[in-house]
Amino acid sequence: MTTPRTVLVTGGNRGIGRAIAEEFVAQGHRVAVTARSGSGPEGTLTVIADVTDAASVDAAFTEVEEKLGPVEVVVANAGITRDTLLLRMSEEDFTDVIDTNLTGSFRVVKRASKGMLKARFGRVILVSSVVGLLGSAGQINYSASKSGLIGIARSLTRELGGRGITANVVAPGFIETDMTAELPQEQQDAYKQQIPAGRFASPEEVAKVIAWLASDDAAYISGAVIPVDGGLGMGH
Ligand code: NAD
Repeated sequence: MTTPRTVLVTGGNRGIGRAIAEEFVAQGHRVAVTARSGSGPEGTLTVIADVTDAASVDAAFTEVEEKLGPVEVVVANAGITRDTLLLRMSEEDFTDVIDTNLTGSFRVVKRASKGMLKARFGRVILVSSVVGLLGSAGQINYSASKSGLIGIARSLTRELGGRGITANVVAPGFIETDMTAELPQEQQDAYKQQIPAGRFASPEEVAKVIAWLASDDAAYISGAVIPVDGGLGMGH
Protein backbone atom coordinates (compact mmCIF):
# COMPACT_ATOMS: atom_id res chain seq x y z
CA MET A 1 0.00 0.00 0.00
CA THR A 2 1.39 3.35 -1.00
CA THR A 3 0.75 6.68 0.77
CA PRO A 4 -2.53 8.25 -0.45
CA ARG A 5 -1.81 11.44 -2.42
CA THR A 6 -3.66 14.27 -4.09
CA VAL A 7 -3.30 13.70 -7.82
CA LEU A 8 -4.09 15.93 -10.80
CA VAL A 9 -4.25 14.45 -14.31
CA THR A 10 -4.62 16.78 -17.29
CA GLY A 11 -6.88 15.62 -20.13
CA GLY A 12 -8.51 13.02 -17.91
CA ASN A 13 -11.92 12.84 -19.54
CA ARG A 14 -10.95 10.18 -22.10
CA GLY A 15 -8.23 7.91 -23.45
CA ILE A 16 -5.01 7.38 -21.54
CA GLY A 17 -5.72 10.24 -19.10
CA ARG A 18 -9.03 8.69 -18.08
CA ALA A 19 -7.36 5.30 -17.48
CA ILE A 20 -4.65 7.02 -15.39
CA ALA A 21 -7.30 8.73 -13.25
CA GLU A 22 -9.19 5.43 -12.81
CA GLU A 23 -6.01 3.66 -11.71
CA PHE A 24 -5.19 6.32 -9.10
CA VAL A 25 -8.78 6.15 -7.77
CA ALA A 26 -8.54 2.33 -7.58
CA GLN A 27 -5.34 2.70 -5.56
CA GLY A 28 -7.08 4.95 -3.01
CA HIS A 29 -5.75 8.41 -3.96
CA ARG A 30 -7.67 11.72 -4.09
CA VAL A 31 -7.92 12.41 -7.81
CA ALA A 32 -8.78 15.47 -9.90
CA VAL A 33 -8.82 15.59 -13.68
CA THR A 34 -8.83 18.55 -15.99
CA ALA A 35 -11.02 18.48 -19.06
CA ARG A 36 -11.89 21.12 -21.61
CA SER A 37 -15.42 19.72 -21.55
CA GLY A 38 -17.16 16.61 -20.26
CA SER A 39 -16.10 14.91 -17.07
CA GLY A 40 -13.60 12.48 -15.64
CA PRO A 41 -14.29 8.97 -14.34
CA GLU A 42 -16.34 8.22 -11.25
CA GLY A 43 -14.64 9.10 -8.00
CA THR A 44 -12.68 12.03 -9.45
CA LEU A 45 -13.14 15.78 -9.22
CA THR A 46 -13.42 17.31 -12.71
CA VAL A 47 -12.16 20.85 -13.24
CA ILE A 48 -12.51 22.63 -16.56
CA ALA A 49 -9.15 23.85 -17.88
CA ASP A 50 -7.32 24.52 -21.11
CA VAL A 51 -3.57 23.96 -20.87
CA THR A 52 -2.90 26.59 -23.56
CA ASP A 53 -4.07 29.24 -21.07
CA ALA A 54 -1.95 29.86 -17.94
CA ALA A 55 -4.83 31.59 -16.10
CA SER A 56 -7.07 28.60 -16.73
CA VAL A 57 -4.37 26.21 -15.42
CA ASP A 58 -3.90 28.40 -12.35
CA ALA A 59 -7.65 28.47 -11.63
CA ALA A 60 -7.85 24.67 -11.99
CA PHE A 61 -5.06 24.13 -9.45
CA THR A 62 -6.64 26.62 -7.04
CA GLU A 63 -9.97 24.76 -7.23
CA VAL A 64 -8.28 21.38 -6.65
CA GLU A 65 -6.25 22.78 -3.73
CA GLU A 66 -9.43 24.15 -2.13
CA LYS A 67 -11.42 20.94 -2.59
CA LEU A 68 -8.82 18.16 -2.23
CA GLY A 69 -5.68 19.78 -0.80
CA PRO A 70 -2.26 20.62 -2.30
CA VAL A 71 -1.43 18.69 -5.48
CA GLU A 72 1.31 16.14 -4.71
CA VAL A 73 1.29 14.20 -7.96
CA VAL A 74 0.78 15.80 -11.35
CA VAL A 75 0.43 13.93 -14.63
CA ALA A 76 0.82 16.19 -17.68
CA ASN A 77 -1.11 14.07 -20.16
CA ALA A 78 -3.09 16.51 -22.33
CA GLY A 79 -1.87 16.36 -25.90
CA ILE A 80 -2.85 16.76 -29.53
CA THR A 81 -1.54 15.74 -32.95
CA ARG A 82 -1.71 17.64 -36.20
CA ASP A 83 0.09 15.37 -38.63
CA THR A 84 1.33 16.40 -42.05
CA LEU A 85 4.57 16.28 -44.00
CA LEU A 86 7.12 19.05 -43.46
CA LEU A 87 6.50 21.04 -46.63
CA ARG A 88 2.76 21.07 -45.93
CA MET A 89 3.15 21.85 -42.23
CA SER A 90 2.19 25.46 -41.52
CA GLU A 91 3.85 27.42 -38.76
CA GLU A 92 0.50 27.29 -36.98
CA ASP A 93 0.43 23.47 -37.21
CA PHE A 94 3.81 23.49 -35.51
CA THR A 95 3.21 26.12 -32.84
CA ASP A 96 -0.28 24.88 -31.89
CA VAL A 97 1.04 21.39 -31.13
CA ILE A 98 3.99 22.83 -29.20
CA ASP A 99 1.65 25.16 -27.31
CA THR A 100 -0.54 22.30 -26.07
CA ASN A 101 1.94 19.45 -25.62
CA LEU A 102 5.12 21.22 -24.53
CA THR A 103 4.27 24.73 -23.33
CA GLY A 104 1.03 23.35 -21.86
CA SER A 105 3.04 20.85 -19.82
CA PHE A 106 5.41 23.64 -18.77
CA ARG A 107 2.43 25.71 -17.50
CA VAL A 108 1.07 22.72 -15.56
CA VAL A 109 4.42 21.72 -14.07
CA LYS A 110 5.30 25.30 -13.13
CA ARG A 111 2.01 25.78 -11.28
CA ALA A 112 2.31 22.36 -9.61
CA SER A 113 5.84 23.07 -8.42
CA LYS A 114 4.63 25.96 -6.20
CA GLY A 115 2.81 23.64 -3.81
CA MET A 116 5.37 20.85 -4.19
CA LEU A 117 8.21 23.17 -3.16
CA LYS A 118 6.26 24.22 -0.07
CA ALA A 119 5.56 20.59 0.85
CA ARG A 120 9.06 19.46 -0.14
CA PHE A 121 7.38 16.57 -1.90
CA GLY A 122 6.18 16.08 -5.44
CA ARG A 123 5.87 13.60 -8.28
CA VAL A 124 5.82 15.01 -11.81
CA ILE A 125 5.02 12.61 -14.62
CA LEU A 126 5.06 13.77 -18.22
CA VAL A 127 3.32 11.75 -20.94
CA SER A 128 5.61 11.78 -23.95
CA SER A 129 5.61 9.25 -26.81
CA VAL A 130 7.91 6.82 -28.54
CA VAL A 131 7.71 9.40 -31.35
CA GLY A 132 9.62 11.82 -29.11
CA LEU A 133 12.47 9.29 -29.02
CA LEU A 134 12.46 7.87 -32.54
CA GLY A 135 10.92 10.65 -34.63
CA SER A 136 8.14 10.01 -37.13
CA ALA A 137 7.53 11.09 -40.73
CA GLY A 138 4.64 13.55 -40.78
CA GLN A 139 4.97 14.38 -37.08
CA ILE A 140 7.79 16.92 -36.81
CA ASN A 141 5.60 19.12 -34.60
CA TYR A 142 4.48 16.28 -32.33
CA SER A 143 7.92 14.69 -32.14
CA ALA A 144 9.56 18.00 -31.18
CA SER A 145 6.94 18.58 -28.48
CA LYS A 146 7.37 15.09 -27.03
CA SER A 147 11.22 15.23 -27.07
CA GLY A 148 10.98 18.56 -25.27
CA LEU A 149 9.22 16.89 -22.34
CA ILE A 150 12.39 14.90 -21.65
CA GLY A 151 14.28 18.20 -21.30
CA ILE A 152 11.66 19.42 -18.85
CA ALA A 153 11.87 16.26 -16.70
CA ARG A 154 15.65 16.18 -16.62
CA SER A 155 16.10 19.90 -15.94
CA LEU A 156 13.41 19.73 -13.26
CA THR A 157 15.24 16.81 -11.68
CA ARG A 158 18.43 18.88 -11.53
CA GLU A 159 16.62 22.01 -10.30
CA LEU A 160 14.21 20.48 -7.76
CA GLY A 161 15.55 16.99 -7.08
CA GLY A 162 17.01 18.12 -3.76
CA ARG A 163 13.57 19.26 -2.54
CA GLY A 164 11.84 15.88 -2.55
CA ILE A 165 10.49 16.26 -6.08
CA THR A 166 10.94 13.66 -8.82
CA ALA A 167 10.17 14.16 -12.50
CA ASN A 168 9.90 11.34 -15.00
CA VAL A 169 8.71 10.72 -18.53
CA VAL A 170 6.56 7.86 -19.75
CA ALA A 171 6.82 7.22 -23.48
CA PRO A 172 3.88 5.15 -24.75
CA GLY A 173 4.03 3.42 -28.10
CA PHE A 174 0.73 2.63 -29.82
CA ILE A 175 -2.16 2.65 -27.38
CA GLU A 176 -5.81 1.80 -28.11
CA THR A 177 -7.43 5.25 -27.91
CA ASP A 178 -9.32 7.66 -30.21
CA MET A 179 -5.89 8.92 -31.36
CA THR A 180 -4.91 5.54 -32.87
CA ALA A 181 -8.48 4.50 -33.83
CA GLU A 182 -8.34 7.32 -36.39
CA LEU A 183 -5.53 5.52 -38.28
CA PRO A 184 -6.64 3.48 -41.33
CA GLN A 185 -6.85 -0.27 -40.58
CA GLU A 186 -4.01 -1.16 -43.03
CA GLN A 187 -1.74 1.35 -41.26
CA GLN A 188 -2.65 -0.09 -37.85
CA ASP A 189 -1.81 -3.60 -39.12
CA ALA A 190 1.52 -2.38 -40.57
CA TYR A 191 2.48 -0.78 -37.25
CA LYS A 192 1.59 -3.96 -35.36
CA GLN A 193 4.07 -5.88 -37.51
CA GLN A 194 6.84 -3.51 -36.37
CA ILE A 195 6.02 -3.90 -32.67
CA PRO A 196 7.83 -6.88 -31.08
CA ALA A 197 4.79 -7.43 -28.81
CA GLY A 198 2.64 -7.66 -31.96
CA ARG A 199 -0.21 -5.54 -30.59
CA PHE A 200 -1.21 -2.11 -29.37
CA ALA A 201 -1.43 -1.62 -25.58
CA SER A 202 -4.51 -0.82 -23.55
CA PRO A 203 -4.58 2.59 -21.81
CA GLU A 204 -4.58 0.68 -18.50
CA GLU A 205 -1.11 -0.73 -19.24
CA VAL A 206 0.22 2.85 -19.42
CA ALA A 207 -1.78 3.92 -16.37
CA LYS A 208 -0.27 1.22 -14.14
CA VAL A 209 3.30 2.33 -14.94
CA ILE A 210 2.39 5.94 -14.18
CA ALA A 211 0.75 5.02 -10.87
CA TRP A 212 3.86 3.05 -9.95
CA LEU A 213 6.09 6.07 -10.72
CA ALA A 214 3.98 8.05 -8.25
CA SER A 215 4.15 5.35 -5.59
CA ASP A 216 6.44 5.16 -2.57
CA ASP A 217 8.41 2.41 -4.33
CA ALA A 218 9.63 4.79 -7.06
CA ALA A 219 10.96 7.52 -4.73
CA TYR A 220 14.53 7.26 -6.05
CA ILE A 221 13.67 7.34 -9.76
CA SER A 222 13.98 10.75 -11.42
CA GLY A 223 14.87 12.03 -14.89
CA ALA A 224 14.01 8.62 -16.33
CA VAL A 225 12.28 7.95 -19.62
CA ILE A 226 10.20 4.80 -19.36
CA PRO A 227 8.93 3.38 -22.65
CA VAL A 228 5.62 1.49 -22.59
CA ASP A 229 5.77 0.39 -26.19
CA GLY A 230 5.97 -3.40 -26.48
CA GLY A 231 9.63 -3.10 -27.47
CA LEU A 232 9.01 -0.77 -30.44
CA GLY A 233 11.76 1.71 -29.51
CA MET A 234 13.89 -0.85 -27.61
CA GLY A 235 14.36 1.52 -24.68
CA HIS A 236 15.93 4.44 -26.60
P1 NAD B 1 -6.95 11.64 -26.60
O1 NAD B 1 -7.05 12.51 -27.80
O2 NAD B 1 -7.97 10.56 -26.39
O3 NAD B 1 -6.90 12.51 -25.26
C1 NAD B 1 -6.16 13.70 -25.19
C2 NAD B 1 -6.63 14.47 -23.99
O4 NAD B 1 -5.96 15.74 -23.98
C3 NAD B 1 -8.13 14.76 -24.05
O5 NAD B 1 -8.68 14.65 -22.76
C4 NAD B 1 -8.16 16.22 -24.49
O6 NAD B 1 -9.34 16.91 -24.07
C5 NAD B 1 -6.93 16.76 -23.80
N1 NAD B 1 -6.48 18.03 -24.37
C6 NAD B 1 -6.09 18.28 -25.63
N2 NAD B 1 -5.80 19.60 -25.77
C7 NAD B 1 -6.00 20.18 -24.55
C8 NAD B 1 -5.89 21.48 -24.05
N3 NAD B 1 -5.52 22.51 -24.81
N4 NAD B 1 -6.18 21.70 -22.74
C9 NAD B 1 -6.58 20.70 -21.95
N5 NAD B 1 -6.72 19.43 -22.37
C10 NAD B 1 -6.44 19.18 -23.66
O7 NAD B 1 -5.49 11.04 -26.69
P2 NAD B 1 -4.75 9.89 -25.86
O8 NAD B 1 -4.37 8.88 -26.85
O9 NAD B 1 -5.48 9.52 -24.64
O10 NAD B 1 -3.41 10.70 -25.48
C11 NAD B 1 -3.06 11.11 -24.17
C12 NAD B 1 -1.59 11.48 -24.18
O11 NAD B 1 -0.83 10.32 -24.54
C13 NAD B 1 -1.24 12.56 -25.20
O12 NAD B 1 -0.26 13.42 -24.65
C14 NAD B 1 -0.66 11.76 -26.35
O13 NAD B 1 0.23 12.52 -27.11
C15 NAD B 1 0.04 10.64 -25.61
N6 NAD B 1 0.27 9.43 -26.41
C16 NAD B 1 -0.76 8.73 -26.97
C17 NAD B 1 -0.46 7.58 -27.70
C18 NAD B 1 -1.53 6.73 -28.32
O14 NAD B 1 -1.19 5.78 -29.03
N7 NAD B 1 -2.79 6.98 -28.11
C19 NAD B 1 0.86 7.19 -27.87
C20 NAD B 1 1.87 7.93 -27.29
C21 NAD B 1 1.56 9.05 -26.55
